[in-house]
Amino acid sequence: MLAAVTRSPGEMVVEDVSGPGPARAGNVIVRPEAVGICGSDFHLFSGDVGALSGGRDFYPRIQGHEVSAIVEDPGEAADIQQGDRVAIWPLLPCGSCYPCRAGRPNVCPRFRLVGVHLDGGLQQRLEVPASTVFGVGDLDPDSTAFVEPASIAVHALARGNLKDGEQAVVFGAGPIGLATTLAAAAAGARVTTIDPIPARRDLAKRLGAERATWAPEADLQTEINDWTGGDGPPLVVETSGETKVLPQAVDLTSAAGRVVVVGMSSGTVPVRPGVFPEKEIDVIGSSCATAEDFQAAINLVRPNRASLAAIFSHHFPLTRTAEAFEFAMNRPPDAIKIMVTVN
Ligand SMILES: [Zn+2]
Ligand SMILES: [Zn+2]
Repeated sequence: MLAAVTRSPGEMVVEDVSGPGPARAGNVIVRPEAVGICGSDFHLFSGDVGALSGGRDFYPRIQGHEVSAIVEDPGEAADIQQGDRVAIWPLLPCGSCYPCRAGRPNVCPRFRLVGVHLDGGLQQRLEVPASTVFGVGDLDPDSTAFVEPASIAVHALARGNLKDGEQAVVFGAGPIGLATTLAAAAAGARVTTIDPIPARRDLAKRLGAERATWAPEADLQTEINDWTGGDGPPLVVETSGETKVLPQAVDLTSAAGRVVVVGMSSGTVPVRPGVFPEKEIDVIGSSCATAEDFQAAINLVRPNRASLAAIFSHHFPLTRTAEAFEFAMNRPPDAIKIMVTVN
């Protein structure tokens, strides 16, 4: 069978590999169909594994953590059958650390991720623990692969305690920002999404944003203040990964409001600490997703597949995965979610 193997940083080769045998105890064999390429894939691809490492070996690795697949051998799994389409919740927590015991396995410092610490979906057959496999019914492959990024959005809004009817601002209209826009609108929020790229703003509107805008910082503040009747929004979600957004979000949000930071950035930015007691705002981090978020993401994606279809901007076959990565890393402005079609 074919697999896209990241042999060492920057070196990906599509080659014949032996692949898994019959499902081992507790595992399931699936045939990946579609895999989404994600910004976090580039870190492993380019050798920037600092935050993921803990002295673990990464190479060679078959990447791919946004996976749609068909069950080939369900092993002992009771709730899935051969031929079922499934999405993969890529997280394998340790089960014993403080976050795991506190019901927050998504930030387990020893977790393993399918496609990062274990081989992932960029291969024609894949063996995964049964705990990672979620049936999606008749959902199409691209939308099924999008359940994983959608679960990041669902988790972020759970962290931000979004309420029905609330006004929320989402920074960024990449895949996570768009998923956050969709999830917030579907939960009854009124959403303004902020992104410099017009095509992405159009997509945000299609996914339920009341407004999609872009303006220099001072103008944006005025615009959002007008939209919220002067208070500022009670919830701001930062998905862009732009370092400068944090102080902007803190300024923008209402007193007593919440800022959720989902976007990953390695830069630093000055923030005046006095603003936190003055406005008594909560600044909340959000990472990955729990199994409950993942199931909620399936329930979110299923009825919205038609409006989500435009997110899947480019498709590459498995044989051209390295080209797909290079294309994605160049961030062409018309690219949103780049997919690899595996089987
Ligand atoms: Zn991802
Ligand atoms: Zn743990």
